[in-house]
Amino acid sequence: MEKIKNFVSLLADKEHVVIISHVNPDGDAIGSATGMKKFLEANGKGVQVVVPNKYPQFLDFLDPDGRIIAYKDDMLRAETVLLSADMIICMDFNSLKRIDDLGLLVAKTKAPKILIDHHLQPEDSFDIIFSDPAASSTCEVAYYLIKGMREADGSLSPVNLDSGISFYTGLMTDTNNFANSVRPQTFRMACELLELGIDKEDVQFKVYSGFREERMRMMGYMLYENMKIFPDQKAGFMLITKELKEKFKFNDGDSEGFVNLALNISGVEVSALFTEADGYVKVSLRSKGDFSVNSMSRAFFNGGGHQRAAGGKIYIPVDEVEEYFLTSLEKYRHTICK
Ligand code: 5GP
Ligand code: MN
Repeated sequence: MEKIKNFVSLLADKEHVVIISHVNPDGDAIGSATGMKKFLEANGKGVQVVVPNKYPQFLDFLDPDGRIIAYKDDMLRAETVLLSADMIICMDFNSLKRIDDLGLLVAKTKAPKILIDHHLQPEDSFDIIFSDPAASSTCEVAYYLIKGMREADGSLSPVNLDSGISFYTGLMTDTNNFANSVRPQTFRMACELLELGIDKEDVQFKVYSGFREERMRMMGYMLYENMKIFPDQKAGFMLITKELKEKFKFNDGDSEGFVNLALNISGVEVSALFTEADGYVKVSLRSKGDFSVNSMSRAFFNGGGHQRAAGGKIYIPVDEVEEYFLTSLEKYRHTICK
């Protein structure tokens, strides 16, 4: 509570708050950033959201006027906004490396930096840290933080419907539709948000039913032709090459959810999706049970994340990816079994 009081008093005289979230922003990144923005705006603050690159189209409904600045597309504006910020709130990431070049800019600014997040091991580049790795999502951390802020200062207005829709979206997407990392507080928050009047079917529809035909066909192809299952290694593997991206007119965000699919197969405890990009291969990992993909990603994939959902990047030719994955898996299991 002491920390929350410090935050509330630090925030009191601030006028230009910038909220930042991570590269390839997902539902929790955009949900937490816009949810917090709407809460702060309702309390008289001027707020801008800046992300390293554009969010996928299915999240348009959280930013209907297109106010979110993507650093990659509008560096000058992002810089101007950041340099005039009197507070920076970082959401849904734990290290400035997760915001690419934007991190260098943030490190240069003098404004106090607040972290609101749910990843393990946050780095100490922040002045105040609200991090709860047991929370389902950053939206959950932010929602309960706002409750605490209102206990500290009764004059603050509560989460309104608009802000609630944002927070509900992150809660829903980061838990894979309330399947993973949920705890009583998660459902309590969902209940309270529904009581605010959120139309959950509408959010559900906007997030999970706006796909293009090519995306659905690609999912079918990935399951039928592309996915490899290695029973001895208890592993599933998918690889999206540039050639496949072209074949299915791939857009950012199209592969959302693919990495979870192999985990539905009995006996599979770790699933990996590799996506060829310019100069690197993006890594996405999911697991069941005690297998920590966070540790594995830190050790072999230049990344990190959570116990059962993590990601990273590797810098090897695409045709070496499968072997690299299998070798890393073997080495990782060997180390943890020692
Ligand atoms: P996804 O597989 O959905 O891209 O990422 C799952 C989780 O892994 C994210 O929520 C994030 O915590 C983490 N993650 C993804 N990519 C990276 C990365 O390049 N570096 C680190 N440190 N974490 C990542
Ligand atoms: Mn998250």
